Amino acid sequence: MFLLIISPLILYFIITYLLKRYQSKRLYTCSLESPSNIYSSLLPVDFHSKPKQSGNNDGGYIYPSDPVSALEQLRAVVATLHSQGALISLDPYNLIILHERLAYTNSNDVVNWFTVQFNLFTGSLTALGTHRHAALIQDACQLKKLGCFALTEKGAGVLSGLLCDTIAYFNQTTAKIVIHTPNENAKKCWISYAGNNQVEYAVVFAKWAQKNPIQSKKQTIVKTSQGELYLTPHVVAMVVQIRDKGMTLEGVSIEQCHTRSDFRSNCFGTLTFTEYNVEPECLLDRYCSLDTTNGTLQVIDHCPKLFFKLANRLLVGRLCLSATALACAKVTLQLVMKKVYSSKRCQFSYITDHIQTMTQQICEMDYYFHRLIKRFQVTTSMTMTTDELLEKNLDEILLIKAYIPPLCRSIVGKCRELFGAESLLAHHRMAEIHASCYASCLAEGDSVIMAQAFVGQCMHKYKHLSFSNWRLIWLMMKILVTVPTHKRIDYINAHQTEVIAAFQQIADGIFQNQGIRSNLQSIPTPDFTNTN
Ligand SMILES: Cc1cc2nc3c(=O)[nH]c(=O)nc-3n(C[C@H](O)[C@H](O)[C@H](O)COP(=O)(O)OP(=O)(O)OC[C@H]3O[C@@H](n4cnc5c(N)ncnc54)[C@H](O)[C@@H]3O)c2cc1C
Repeated sequence: MFLLIISPLILYFIITYLLKRYQSKRLYTCSLESPSNIYSSLLPVDFHSKPKQSGNNDGGYIYPSDPVSALEQLRAVVATLHSQGALISLDPYNLIILHERLAYTNSNDVVNWFTVQFNLFTGSLTALGTHRHAALIQDACQLKKLGCFALTEKGAGVLSGLLCDTIAYFNQTTAKIVIHTPNENAKKCWISYAGNNQVEYAVVFAKWAQKNPIQSKKQTIVKTSQGELYLTPHVVAMVVQIRDKGMTLEGVSIEQCHTRSDFRSNCFGTLTFTEYNVEPECLLDRYCSLDTTNGTLQVIDHCPKLFFKLANRLLVGRLCLSATALACAKVTLQLVMKKVYSSKRCQFSYITDHIQTMTQQICEMDYYFHRLIKRFQVTTSMTMTTDELLEKNLDEILLIKAYIPPLCRSIVGKCRELFGAESLLAHHRMAEIHASCYASCLAEGDSVIMAQAFVGQCMHKYKHLSFSNWRLIWLMMKILVTVPTHKRIDYINAHQTEVIAAFQQIADGIFQNQGIRSNLQSIPTPDFTNTN
């Protein structure tokens, strides 16, 4: 009996192993957009001349990281992109490709500022606003108005948005929306560029409160300047002015973070709102509206969970951050390969084996990623909206954000080790690239939470259930058989390590079985040497 059960299993593993081992694979070379000046046109103007200046002993170009110079470089890059017509559309595909180009040619500081201004700030206005916000969008695209994106709260961290303590409500006497930070935990923190005096606007997320009770089992009441109000389940987005000509407006308080080791140009800000009054037009009202006769929020029928609609910007952001991490990993590995293969080090198998493994991993990520992002190319014949496209590909976006940035961070860490002490030199950008990859794991949806959400989706939709994903089957069986429905979320939270192991098994299976192989030439990087 035992043999009867075990022999088909053994046979299955032998056959799948052999198939995997001897399956023919095509050689894959990471794609580079041609012509090559698509990259070199974004380099800082002094990229070639500065290292040659007399007295410059750095051996390469060191990107400035003070806020004034970083902003100057961002303005130059944006002007070039406008002249190329590259910013006409902020559709996801276009933004992702721009992030890739920027990550090759510019500092972390510029890429990060670009992502905040164009995806998080302007992207939110475009996707969530209406004709009322058109003038601001135009100014934001031209960098005439700079903005930030205030989602993260001190007490919520990676769960910000799902948890939100900042409140907003309508004051009928003044006909203004009031934004308020009720406690320390509700402070908006780590808000990129909110501490930079040039930034005058913020997209702020807050939970809506109103006089009319909502239909819910649990009614939560909050105390406000308008008396006691019912808290709705809806997180709304508003675009508000926080500074005027560099001066913080009354009702807003901004603490600057001065002690950063990385992201030197980004003076992260902590925002506190004290019954801050703003016009009703500040509400980004594509999916909701405000009844000014009684301060009630109306949410259009097909978006009962308003926050998920608002969070679509984060979906695009997750792809942009993954593109950035991937470009960074490619640049770093290229540097290591050049050093190793032009020296006697190429005889040491510890080094070359690692290089081969990392090359294969980068090619696998690159192949999957570039195949997926093609789905986000917006064409005139398309019937779906960008939001629908993003929602349709939600699982793949979760997979990418959970897999690519952490693996890129590990690759960059290993590359630094193999590069030796030279990795400390600023012009190699390894230290800042390492910081960028780590931030790509954390920001706009933590990779651990994304992995957990992906596994949740697999169980919910009965996807990826196979022998090779036995961890998923085992976990699912345990949950279905032993955990009552109302305790399942708690169970998953208490067994996250097991969930992440299941994720890793599924993701490795997907990325490592795409039928591609790599060689040392598989990862080209743009060549900037012949451009002057
Ligand atoms: C460079 C950079 C720029 C940023 N810019 C912005 C911005 O412009 N606007 C904005 O709103 N925010 C911004 N943030 C904030 C960012 O989104 C938060 O740092 C992130 O949401 C994590 O919150 P936290 O730092 O409080 O980490 P924590 O919540 O303390 O989490 C730290 C780590 O603990 C683990 N962890 C925490 N909770 C859980 C859980 N429930 N399950 C499993 N693991 C968990 C995770 O591994 C996580 O990485 C930025 C952050 C960085 C690094």
